[in-house]
Amino acid sequence: MTAAPVTVRVPAKVNVQLAVGGLRPDGFHDLANVFLAVGLYDEITATPSDRLRITVSGPDAHQVPLDESNLAARAALALAARHGVEPRVHLHIAKDIPVAGGMAGGSADGAGALLACDTLWETGATRDELLAICAELGSDVPFSLVGGAALGRGRGELLEPLETGGVLHWVFAVADGGLSTPAVYRECDRLREAAGTGSSAADVPEPAPSGDLLRALRTGDPGALAAVLANDLQPAAVSLRPSLTETLRAGSEGGALAALVSGSGPTCAFLAKDPEAAEGVAEALLRSATCRAVRVTSGPVPGATVLR
Ligand code: ATP
Repeated sequence: MTAAPVTVRVPAKVNVQLAVGGLRPDGFHDLANVFLAVGLYDEITATPSDRLRITVSGPDAHQVPLDESNLAARAALALAARHGVEPRVHLHIAKDIPVAGGMAGGSADGAGALLACDTLWETGATRDELLAICAELGSDVPFSLVGGAALGRGRGELLEPLETGGVLHWVFAVADGGLSTPAVYRECDRLREAAGTGSSAADVPEPAPSGDLLRALRTGDPGALAAVLANDLQPAAVSLRPSLTETLRAGSEGGALAALVSGSGPTCAFLAKDPEAAEGVAEALLRSATCRAVRVTSGPVPGATVLR
């Protein structure tokens, strides 16, 4: 056990492809989920304390639970239970990733807290063990630990790292208020039923990664990638939040190569040709007043990293 605080930095993600299969009998959907880690970060600091305590700072802090439902708390408890450690830790989350924005902010905090506590408590857990705990915490948590780019299968938790070439420039339009991920999946099922295609795993083709998309990521060609970005949850997110249509249009008119809802939304993601084009997209989005905040960044970036 070290006494010095440990800070871990964890990135947000955007899904460059999110193919959603039919509803499984266990209530989940099979996915083909191509994740890219981008440079918006939460920082989690673990400090020895008399008990498990969570504090949060940042503009969205009031939306984050401080009890044991917080993924950071659940990560600390899971690691402590496995290693017979008392979970006496203060976890401070400096939150910059939009909450309930479809950018895996909670998952980032889970992965970050796990790595921070593991470093603080010197448990000697292997990388595979940490990944297994991440998968128990949630479908997107393993990717937050790994970062870079990866293909997620199953519920998204079976990860295969992907090769990428070059830096991709992104602009994110942060919406006012979040969308509940389970509600967006329910809306996706409802829209499929309404369209007459059915929503069960027997009705919907098995989700598969796009070969063109994996090739575009490998070469790092933003034009080629823009042509094949795809999110099966986008119609559901837009159905629940019709104003996203305006945000997507504003970014496209501002020069984005492609516009899509990030994961379950409501954050919208815009791929730009280069940093200058990204600034142009950001200015157009700000002028349009169709979102709460605009962030310019790039990816891929590494996953959860110990800063000190
Ligand atoms: P995803 O992209 O993985 O679907 P998201 O980015 O849309 O997730 P989160 O920011 O992870 O959404 O938050 C979803 C909900 O999870 C929040 O409304 C909140 O109640 C709960 N939650 C639990 N722990 C955290 C945390 N550390 N940070 C933010 N939200 C958390």
